[in-house]
Amino acid sequence: MSTDAERIEKKRRAVPVKYRKLFDRCMAGKASPRDAIKMQCLECWGYDRTETEACDIVTCPLYHHRPYQKRATTRIRRRGASSGGERTESAQ
Ligand code: SF4
Repeated sequence: MSTDAERIEKKRRAVPVKYRKLFDRCMAGKASPRDAIKMQCLECWGYDRTETEACDIVTCPLYHHRPYQKRATTRIRRRGASSGGERTESAQ
């Protein structure tokens, strides 16, 4: 049976280097709730930011608090504008 420190270290090794500081703050209890949610959401999609942005799991309790919402909305708006398409709900 492994200790908490061993489990955390094992998980840390699976975190991409660019997110390790965030992970460390979370594990130390020093991350803000917003950053902790960001870490959870990134982990949820295998640390793929694009996938995290596109999360559509509306039944998740964190859905309305997930990171990168503004960026994803902007991208949808741009896509609609460049295709001469219709406006999205958020653009109205
Ligand atoms: S909001 Fe989406 S990305 Fe975040 S934890 Fe829930 S399902 Fe995962």
